[in-house]
Amino acid sequence: MQSREKRRLRIKGKIVINQPMKELTSLKIGGLADFFVIPEDIDDLKAVLNFCTQEKIPFLVIGNGSKLLIQDEGFKGVVIKLGEGFKKIRNENEELIVGAGVNLSSLIDFTAKKGLSGLESLIGIPGTLGGAVVRNASAFGESLSQRIIWAKVLDRNNSGFTLSRKDMDFDYRTSIFLKNKDLILVEVKLSLPFDSKEKIISRLKETNRKKIQTQPLSFPSAGCIFKNPSFYSAGYLIQSTGCLGMRVGDAQVSFQHGNFIINRGEAQAKDIIQLMEKIRKKVKEKFNILLEPEVEII
Ligand SMILES: Cc1cc2nc3c(=O)[nH]c(=O)nc-3n(C[C@H](O)[C@H](O)[C@H](O)COP(=O)(O)OP(=O)(O)OC[C@H]3O[C@@H](n4cnc5c(N)ncnc54)[C@H](O)[C@@H]3O)c2cc1C
Repeated sequence: MQSREKRRLRIKGKIVINQPMKELTSLKIGGLADFFVIPEDIDDLKAVLNFCTQEKIPFLVIGNGSKLLIQDEGFKGVVIKLGEGFKKIRNENEELIVGAGVNLSSLIDFTAKKGLSGLESLIGIPGTLGGAVVRNASAFGESLSQRIIWAKVLDRNNSGFTLSRKDMDFDYRTSIFLKNKDLILVEVKLSLPFDSKEKIISRLKETNRKKIQTQPLSFPSAGCIFKNPSFYSAGYLIQSTGCLGMRVGDAQVSFQHGNFIINRGEAQAKDIIQLMEKIRKKVKEKFNILLEPEVEII
């Protein structure tokens, strides 16, 4: 992707050529994206999609990159991150219409101030609402999908439509959006019941306390690296095979949480992938369980 293309794509938002993806992911890993755009509003987004379709260029929509492992070769195409026009929250009684670019933390702040409950267990998840819907973010048995009424979506051909919760095929850490990467989430309607602000704040504090105790938050990571197989947690299996502290380059299995791989500085995607393979092999040998990645490898 060169400046010739940049001149042909006219949007109000930002356009960057050769964007280091390590700057856009929580693991701080990833090679260059040919093209990085931040559409400011829906017209910008439509222009970007039109451009990608006409030029037959692949695109990838990201949120805060907190569940992504971008390969060292980078992304050959256009990486899209929703801009300011997608960060609005509208609220009437127990219903909210929220832009997909809103950070979960801002959304939770907003709901706590309004006395709306139901998102407390998601505090501390460092994603956007869009990314959280796509991965059906959850914690302590509560998932975001339980709160969703509908989502407004655009596809590669710029057709807009509304999907009901049922249409979105939610399951553990997945949804229709993970299978069909041509769908872009724009806006989501949530239903959150009223509760007392004191109770909401006390639940937020309690969840925060548990997360700080159990998660290694001082190094870059992508949260849990493997899905939990039924009956056992991946963290327990990894710990039981003696993998804590295991390292490939600067990629290391956290001592604090077996299912977190942390980047101790200069880890590359290939180090994380090699470490994941080592863990999978050990767990398979000892428990005959093949761990499935939770992080999405691009
Ligand atoms: C320290 C830490 C703790 C974590 N704790 C938890 C936890 O407790 N529970 C949990 O579930 N997760 C957790 N995570 C993982 C992660 O934060 C969540 O999965 C989060 O919801 C991802 O949001 P994101 O905006 O970063 O998405 P990204 O990682 O940027 O993207 C995730 C997926 O969504 C797609 N996507 C993003 N936005 C859009 C859009 N608008 N339209 C279409 N597709 C889109 C991307 O293409 C990708 O497929 C944690 C991560 C970290 C680093």
